[in-house]
Amino acid sequence: MSAVILDGRASAARIKRKLAHHIVALQKQHKIVPGLAVIRAGDHQASQVYVASKMQQCQEVGIQSFQATFKEKTSHEEILEQIHRFNANPQVHGILVQMPLPRHLDSEKIIHAIDPLKDVDGLHPENLGALMAGVPRIVPCTPQGCLSLLRQYRKNLKGLLAVIIGRSILVGKPLTLLLLQENCTIVIAHSKTRHLPELCRQADILVAAAGHPCLVKGSWVKPGAIVLDVGINRMANKDGTSDLLGDVDFEEVKEIAGAITPVPGGVGPMTVAALLQNTVKLMTHQLGLI
Ligand code: NAD
Repeated sequence: MSAVILDGRASAARIKRKLAHHIVALQKQHKIVPGLAVIRAGDHQASQVYVASKMQQCQEVGIQSFQATFKEKTSHEEILEQIHRFNANPQVHGILVQMPLPRHLDSEKIIHAIDPLKDVDGLHPENLGALMAGVPRIVPCTPQGCLSLLRQYRKNLKGLLAVIIGRSILVGKPLTLLLLQENCTIVIAHSKTRHLPELCRQADILVAAAGHPCLVKGSWVKPGAIVLDVGINRMANKDGTSDLLGDVDFEEVKEIAGAITPVPGGVGPMTVAALLQNTVKLMTHQLGLI
């Protein structure tokens, strides 16, 4: 039997419609417009597409967007100066640094320069610490999107075994903390993990965030498991076009899993929806509206 497809595009559209109404109400009541600033550096083509899409979606829901773009050879100083300007700008409520940055740049140093109250992806140590302590102020966007999709399919996640492939600060680590709060039991796997297929076969929830196309095969999945595919891998075709592939072999796994996210159209749109929600949340915090 084929798995339920967890349609991230449709869910994200619902979240954005609700958010757009909320933003109109905030404008009427308080005469304020939420603002998101995105910093991008380098020639990474996919990043240019992602940032353009984020700007477009800001406009759709009524968020004012600001963009700062730097050349591949930019310096830390240039980016840090821009972050300080955005930190000081009262029209900017959320600041996002689009990853990946050019290799010579220290992404930690750059993220740490963002005012924690404007850290829209929740990656500043202060915000990650709050999440760790179980009192999150702002939750990283991709894990938040993953949790929304999971909850739509199954309200109560208590006691389920989740195997998360990938231990990055962007996805795997914060998602571990969120699922712990849901009373799941977590195994976090990474590139040095042994017996990965056997581990995955035990999972009630399997999350693939390795950046490795079609890593998870049908034989790795327990029948009925919920499979979230976070991976985005752009594969070039001979004719110059390209396709997006996830970390899960979708055709194989959809025949075994109970539910699965597609790529594209699964976790990606939910990440952007969470980014827009977080911008509004930060604004309401900054202005003391909640
Ligand atoms: P990362 O490179 O920082 O981390 C990858 C992790 O996967 C590491 O912990 C590594 O140990 C592990 N890993 C790599 N190969 C592995 C293997 N063969 N077996 C087991 N573990 C392995 O990457 P990231 O930033 O966490 O992103 C992961 C993937 O998710 C990428 O494809 C990225 O494009 C995608 N991503 C998607 C979204 C979205 O919105 N859908 C958001 C962020 C990242």
